[in-house]
Amino acid sequence: MTSAPTHDPILIVHGGAWAIPADAAEAHEAGVREALETGYKILALGGSALDAVEAAVSVLEDDPTFDAGRGSFLTSDGRVQLDALLMDGGRMKAGGVACVERLRNPIQAARLVLEKSPHVYFVGPGAEQFAASHGMVLIPNSELVLPRERERLAAAQARQAAGLADETFSGQLADDKDPETAYSTNNTAGAPGPGSPRTGLRPGGGDPSHFGTREPGNSSPSPTEDPGQNWWDDKKPGNPYEDPTKWSHDTVGAVALDGHGNLAAATSTGGTLNKTPGRVGDSSLIGCGCYADNLAGAVSLTGWGEPIMKLVLGKWATDRVAAGSAPEIAAREAISYLYNRLGGHGGIILLGPDGRFGLAHNTPAMAWGLATPSGFQTGLSV
Ligand code: ASP
Repeated sequence: MTSAPTHDPILIVHGGAWAIPADAAEAHEAGVREALETGYKILALGGSALDAVEAAVSVLEDDPTFDAGRGSFLTSDGRVQLDALLMDGGRMKAGGVACVERLRNPIQAARLVLEKSPHVYFVGPGAEQFAASHGMVLIPNSELVLPRERERLAAAQARQAAGLADETFSGQLADDKDPETAYSTNNTAGAPGPGSPRTGLRPGGGDPSHFGTREPGNSSPSPTEDPGQNWWDDKKPGNPYEDPTKWSHDTVGAVALDGHGNLAAATSTGGTLNKTPGRVGDSSLIGCGCYADNLAGAVSLTGWGEPIMKLVLGKWATDRVAAGSAPEIAAREAISYLYNRLGGHGGIILLGPDGRFGLAHNTPAMAWGLATPSGFQTGLSV
């Protein structure tokens, strides 16, 4: 027996928050649109939020544009290692996998963990064996590796060998672990206060914390930019975004509310470029890069994983919604908190139980898509 839908279904996806270059912009927008089409079809037919986010993220994993599945960033020894988490906010069930190397769609392995195991999280070969025992095909790791990524890794390692710090997503901070960097500020817009050690993320000066938010009713799908400048177009010599270490954070995610009022969230990633084998970021950790609870909200994050993990930022954001904050405010506050507390950069999609939502990022761009009964919107900035 099924009950009649009581909610308008909503699906929101992201395809990473970073300095998306001009020649990758179209592919990012096309990718998030395809994910919306696949996921929203499920919701429109009365399917579950969980099925919708799994399907949407599978599309993004299959798309080599993104840092998830095939085409992901490589570890320092040249392999793809994938992390993914899926959470069902109605049943409060979760499934996660990390450091898997032989699965084309880790989000589908995460779903198997959620449905078929009393456990919540599997890593490495154990995760692969669990997935294989439930019918998933194990592939050679080389099938996930693109020549583009070998080049990217070589460039990152050349920089490392030259003693150039990888400041990927750290703004201008040298080290996110130093308590000195965790300055306090009551600046809620995400920008460091006067005298702050942070002198700015953006090339060419200006507000060091580019900050975009989106909320229901704000209908313009086009990127918000400084007049006369596209972040990802600026190829001037000396622009730090020419640095391949900034070509980063293409993790994918989705949040959905289905017609029966259930929330779900999914996040999948290849992690960070040149990561040490075995490193796990925020994306697949419950409450960090992904979380869903019908009583609070559904969230997926992308960005520099270490600060996001330390702040348990996904749960932080949904707790705010549960306490009464509007998701559009909580999304913005989460990114402010990430920057103000630890100098982190990234993006968030956050959906409340009542269908209100918020998107925010403090990176130059974030690929996003929104599907509601009124149609689809996509963009590269909010
Ligand atoms: N958050 C991911 C990680 O640190 C990276 C990303 O969002 O692209 O593994």
